[in-house]
Amino acid sequence: MEKSKFGRRFEGKIAIVTASTQGIGFSIAQRLGLEGASVVISSRKQRNVDEAVGKLKAQGIDVLGLVCHVSNAQHRKNLVDQTVQKYGKIDVVVLNAAVNPSVNPILQTKESTLDKLWEVNVKTSILLLQDASPHLSNGSSIVFTSSISAFQPPPGMAMYGVTKTTLLGLTKALATELAPNTRVNCVAPGFVPTHFASYITSNETKRKALEEMTSLKRLGTTEDVAAATAFLASDDASYITGETIVVSGGTPSRL
Ligand code: NAP
Repeated sequence: MEKSKFGRRFEGKIAIVTASTQGIGFSIAQRLGLEGASVVISSRKQRNVDEAVGKLKAQGIDVLGLVCHVSNAQHRKNLVDQTVQKYGKIDVVVLNAAVNPSVNPILQTKESTLDKLWEVNVKTSILLLQDASPHLSNGSSIVFTSSISAFQPPPGMAMYGVTKTTLLGLTKALATELAPNTRVNCVAPGFVPTHFASYITSNETKRKALEEMTSLKRLGTTEDVAAATAFLASDDASYITGETIVVSGGTPSRL
């Protein structure tokens, strides 16, 4: 991403993006940073955090990098505490962490896997927001990363899809709870070739089939998702709350 291409909608703003050392989360942090935000990035591995911090700093972005496995309560608390200690407030929170540990049908999914899906994809976002909410500024904005699979959970990733459906409901519920000071929205990406999706997108035949399902005849990029997330997080979306934007090149999703 080139700095000069963008506006400066996040000048003076502080943004936390979870699971943000690569893929969609990294691009979101980069986009917010290039538009002037100080960004707090994190993931499970220190090495990945250091590498991502280096890349963002090289683009002139003010960045704080921390280890935060979203399932770890101490890590979540530290993420919020260190952000507030350094910057004094939180303007944007992007909840982007997810796992997809099973290809089994829902009724053949182990209880421990069901627990993990619920925990990482839904519960930890709620817990992180419980820690962050006392520090959210007036006019702040929360964005969830859902998925196009929220609308029609596909075989092979059905329970993952259902957790992403849950985020659509969570977006609505929290938009009401946190109004009028904080807006809450959601982005539902189609397939984007990242590490997370590589088990599908690295297969040439499957990749072609997915491209054919889009109207625009290509898979999404992490930058496509970052652009929609930045819009919802910005004051350009100041009269939008409780909504989900589908970023899928026209792949069938909903009316
Ligand atoms: P990705 O490229 O594989 O990146 C995942 C990032 O999350 C990495 O930085 C990883 O770093 C971090 N991470 C993984 N588990 C974590 C945990 N428990 N706690 C904290 N950080 C963790 O994945 P992605 O494709 O960008 O996916 C990001 C989000 O987009 C997910 O919510 C996913 O469901 C959603 N999504 C993706 C697609 C797609 O096609 N790619 C489509 C729709 C929705 P560490 O290894 O260092 O932890």
